[in-house]
Amino acid sequence: MRVAEIYESVQGEGELTGQASIFVRASGCNLRCGFCDTPYASWAPEGDDLSVAAILQQIGRFDGSHVVLTGGEPMLFSELIPICERLRDEGRHVTIETAGTLHLALPCDLMSISPKMNNSTPLGDVDPRWRLRHEQTRHSMDVVQRLIDDYPHQLKFVVRSLADCQEVQQYVEQLSNIAHGRVMLMPQGVDAIDLAAAAKWLEPECRRRGFRFCPRKQIEWFGLQRAT
Ligand code: SF4
Repeated sequence: MRVAEIYESVQGEGELTGQASIFVRASGCNLRCGFCDTPYASWAPEGDDLSVAAILQQIGRFDGSHVVLTGGEPMLFSELIPICERLRDEGRHVTIETAGTLHLALPCDLMSISPKMNNSTPLGDVDPRWRLRHEQTRHSMDVVQRLIDDYPHQLKFVVRSLADCQEVQQYVEQLSNIAHGRVMLMPQGVDAIDLAAAAKWLEPECRRRGFRFCPRKQIEWFGLQRAT
């Protein structure tokens, strides 16, 4: 499994915001979002191919109880199954952060699903083959429903306009069994000032629609930096 980075930091998004965590960033993604803020794990994947034992050994350097398997798209890698099994055997809490286009049968404590909406389409000077592949792949309602049914979950959506909020509402209405209060809207952006400005309209919009507002605290705390 190709890994871009393994590091200790604090979870900045979602239900476990503020929780000290060990992050394992899988390198490689089946999507190419225009707003991707980890291009070194998607558009231009970096890192080394590591064995399951090597990944577990690097995680073992840290004492933390919470591990986040993120990407890129970690669900591309079947090695995730023995990694999650071992981490759970050690008593660690496992979160998987996925775009919800792939399903693996593995043990985890929180499936953090971020389905990609229309605003994720890569525009401008990008390889048209990737734009087509992204559009053909990003919408996997059956996979998202299965992940919701199979795991404790949260759904996080990136939005930048009222139209995006409406699109999310229509999308969510097609799903069932979503745990109460587990649909979250995050403003798009990688700058703390832009995110604070977006919060002013998005927070009340979330309340109006019955969603939770999800700040991106890691940007506020650390800025857009790797290994944070
Ligand atoms: S799914 Fe995530 S990692 Fe992949 S391109 Fe989109 S934002 Fe980047």
